[in-house]
Amino acid sequence: MINQIDYTYKDRVWCGKINEKYVNKEVKIYGWVHRFRDMGGILFVDLRDRTGIVQVVVPSELKRIKLSLEDVLEVVGIVKERPIENINPNIATGNFEVVAKEIRILSKSEPLPFMINEDYKDIKDLKIDEATRLKYRYLDLRRLQMFKNMYFRHKIIKYIRDFMDNEDFLEIETPLLAKPTPEGARDFLVPSRLQPGKFYALPQSPQLFKQILMVAGIDRYFQVAKCLRDEDLRADRQPEFTQIDIEMSFISKKDIFLLIENLLNYVLNNLGIEISIPFDVIDYNYAIKHFNSDKPDLRFNYPVKKWNNSIKINLNDENFDINQAYYIFFKNLVLTRKELDKLNEFLKQNNLKFLYLISNSLGEPSFKGSLVKFVDINEVDNYLRKENQFYNGNYLVFVISSKNYLNELILIKNYLIENRLLKPVKDFYFLWVDNFPLFKIEEEKVGNKLIRKISPEHHPFTNVLEEDKDKVYMIYEQLKKNPNIIYDDEFVKEVLSIRSLAYDLVLNGVEVASGSIRITDIKFQKIIFEIIGINEEEANRKFGFLLEAFKYGVPPHGGIALGIDRIIALLLGYSSIREVIAFPKTQSGTCLLTKAPSEVDLSQLKELGIKLMEVN
Ligand code: ASP
Repeated sequence: MINQIDYTYKDRVWCGKINEKYVNKEVKIYGWVHRFRDMGGILFVDLRDRTGIVQVVVPSELKRIKLSLEDVLEVVGIVKERPIENINPNIATGNFEVVAKEIRILSKSEPLPFMINEDYKDIKDLKIDEATRLKYRYLDLRRLQMFKNMYFRHKIIKYIRDFMDNEDFLEIETPLLAKPTPEGARDFLVPSRLQPGKFYALPQSPQLFKQILMVAGIDRYFQVAKCLRDEDLRADRQPEFTQIDIEMSFISKKDIFLLIENLLNYVLNNLGIEISIPFDVIDYNYAIKHFNSDKPDLRFNYPVKKWNNSIKINLNDENFDINQAYYIFFKNLVLTRKELDKLNEFLKQNNLKFLYLISNSLGEPSFKGSLVKFVDINEVDNYLRKENQFYNGNYLVFVISSKNYLNELILIKNYLIENRLLKPVKDFYFLWVDNFPLFKIEEEKVGNKLIRKISPEHHPFTNVLEEDKDKVYMIYEQLKKNPNIIYDDEFVKEVLSIRSLAYDLVLNGVEVASGSIRITDIKFQKIIFEIIGINEEEANRKFGFLLEAFKYGVPPHGGIALGIDRIIALLLGYSSIREVIAFPKTQSGTCLLTKAPSEVDLSQLKELGIKLMEVN
């Protein structure tokens, strides 16, 4: 009898963990009915828990039970080795089965809205739509791959905590009901019942609190922090997401880089992922110039180069100016005939000027492409050999263009990446992008006019690169003298040329962290506020507590925040962070499981002193 067996949760054997150790022993297992087959006298049940599946053999005397898929069972049985012909090499427990002595249905399942036992190689290939998966998220999460995602996430966060603890960081929780934090998005507001007419803002990040913690002498802070930003959603954005938020005192940029490199190396090595540290660092301006992006994907490191104009291209085309010609040289590109034809088609469709080189098995190059008639092939050949040390026996493609050269070359590169024609140099390419501009220019609609204004590129607490500090004062003076200054090209160029102490971490072309060294000089902080259009009254109202704190001894400090959802998704090969979040929201910010956001009772609104009005 089941009740006479004295099991605790510690004796529980997981379905997916049944192995030779248990052969001929009695085990008690729990799980969901993944599949079942009635083979005349015997019933075979695949029982599934979060660790995997094991086959349960239900002898004829117990067969009176009536099963449905996803019923919850408790089984007591003896583990047996399967006869050779019945071994299932596709599951970890495929050599074994549990011959049931007792079987109990703990809960019945109704017919399912979708099959959980559908065979799939990857979640991305599931046949059901995502909305249904999100509505029945508890069923979706029962899939072993989804469990693995959750497990991976849990482990990453655990190893982060271990590492940070070892480096003397304290995890400190900061409030959710707070004041606005200027991270550039809209705030989610929470009305105060006790103080009608007043609102809390949910934190876009713990930025202000972590700086206050530095003033408080905590010195090394981190937090697995929920951040809330009301902005338009994309595959890699959610209204609430998780950051590993970090702040340190008495450090320089180099320390933050070192810390994060060691942190990621430790965490990923523990999960069996090899990465190389230190990470490469490139300058923001270099990235923009050569990759047209502040988050280049250097798994595919093909910088744009200027054409050597001593090699003539005799093309009679008003759009083509040899002095403005650039190229990318794609080394080791191996294309099939079909891929080559498709690429050709793509290049022609986009009216791109190009050449490509096929060297045959004897290493003899032959050029093709729309420019082939207009160049001296030998000259080009020599030039490229000198520049790029190319190898025999490979296809090489390079493309030359003029007007819009960056966009066009990047277009081709993206085509090649999307069609998997370029091989990544490594699976996970972490890259620091350094020396971001301090400011950006934004356009704001005032009435029916577009007004240009200066905004922080990172956030207003970011310090400036020492060499560029004077430029900040200059801009400040100019604005003070002439608040209505025309934002002509020259002025804009000057503003954008000011470099900051802000940096981003990029993984495979996706921004996964950003941070900066902070301003600790109250006077300079006020100047920055003025430049970005926050006057003294507003600064005091919004950030007065920070400025006040800075009066009482503020250590130099800086920090960073890692977007952990994105990092996990990239490591697991997903383009959508929803696959690694247990209960994500849709593009329109809806939780399909709970149906949030939803209407509330009038009485609740009344208590808060809120009256709804029509919005369009
Ligand atoms: N608070 C910043 C952010 O969320 C990160 C930082 O500067 O530490 O992007």
